[in-house]
Amino acid sequence: MDKPSSRKQIDIRARLKLRPVINVSGTMTALGASIVVPDAVEAISAILGEFVEMGDLYRRASSVIAELTGAEAGFVTASCSAGITLAAAACMTGSDLAAIERLPDATGLKDEVLIQSGHMVSYGAPVEQAIRLAGAKVVPVGQATSAHAYQLAGAITECTAAAVYVVSHHVVDYAQIPLKIFCDVCHARGVPVIVDAASEYDMTGFLADGADLALYSGHKFLGGPTSGIVAGRKEMVRDTYLQNRGIGRGMKVGKEGIVGALAALQAWKSRDHAGIRAREQLALDCWVEALADRPGIAAAVVPDPTHNPLDRLKVNVDTEAANITAWDLADRLAAGDPPVIVRDHEVEHGYFFLDPCNLHPNEEFIVAKRLAEELDQARKSNTVIATPFENRLLAREAAILKWPD
Ligand SMILES: *Cc1c(COP(=O)(O)O)cnc(C)c1O
Repeated sequence: MDKPSSRKQIDIRARLKLRPVINVSGTMTALGASIVVPDAVEAISAILGEFVEMGDLYRRASSVIAELTGAEAGFVTASCSAGITLAAAACMTGSDLAAIERLPDATGLKDEVLIQSGHMVSYGAPVEQAIRLAGAKVVPVGQATSAHAYQLAGAITECTAAAVYVVSHHVVDYAQIPLKIFCDVCHARGVPVIVDAASEYDMTGFLADGADLALYSGHKFLGGPTSGIVAGRKEMVRDTYLQNRGIGRGMKVGKEGIVGALAALQAWKSRDHAGIRAREQLALDCWVEALADRPGIAAAVVPDPTHNPLDRLKVNVDTEAANITAWDLADRLAAGDPPVIVRDHEVEHGYFFLDPCNLHPNEEFIVAKRLAEELDQARKSNTVIATPFENRLLAREAAILKWPD
């Protein structure tokens, strides 16, 4: 969003009969991830009609990733999820090309991958499944809300191939092993550490804290096309790259994905981070004002739980006073015109968040208007608008199973 918006006058969504959603939920795969930055859009369209030697393009990507992360080397794959699978595979096979072709049959290879129980989360699919796809066995460490260094040490065997550490708002955020200690325990026994930092802005800190590989999504905060970035020790990055000759084939990224990710990484360096933050603050201010003095609504600006430079508005809904539940309000906003999709992972607690990081200019005003309209409407209702939460869960599950109808 540094440059003037590259949006076309004709919205392709109308042509495809798709709803023009406004995204105040964050960077969501289900909504098309993020707004791809103009530099990446240009680079992608420039490469699509050309041939390139992919080995050289991967090499070029490696040096750009290395420069930005402080790593020895880097690799671009289809997604961060693919990165988890391929990094785990690399730790199992090393550079043994025959073993790479045999996966997911892991006979004769170290095949255990450690992960704290509190890190076994879903980002839309289970993180441990991404590990198992490599043919690995997942070994949970500790309990969901308690993990200790001694438990990690005790879980390491001669079959341990790697340990995965997840940095995310999804994970249990207390009583987990700090990354530095996690790395120390693993390294003392020769076990490499893979950090899943898919949505983290910090491109250098996890490697600096001892991670052997750090994995990022290209399509989250970076604003690249759908892609995954692997950064870290040269041999391990090479072994990850070599998985393209095996299980990585089905996770391949095309020239457009690599070139787009590179352009997004380059743009990240020169991005006007302060300017973006200031624009996001204006959106938050606009929503605070729109929600002020509304019965049953308490809004507060809260920082990102994993310390990314990003604030969100937490909107608490007191059902009795507002005459509507938080989830009914979220659902009405999503069903409206235009659809406004809020961040509702924790909505059963009676709140949702408004995330300003993926807004186009002036969309914050539409969001404010829609909030006001739905809250006014709810006030006028003779009954409290309160769908039982379980019904909402079951309806969502039923809707998935009906696709494509
Ligand atoms: C989004 C996410 C992923 C998956 O990233 P993709 O690039 O979309 O595959 C993995 N781990 C965490 C913690 C995430 O938030």
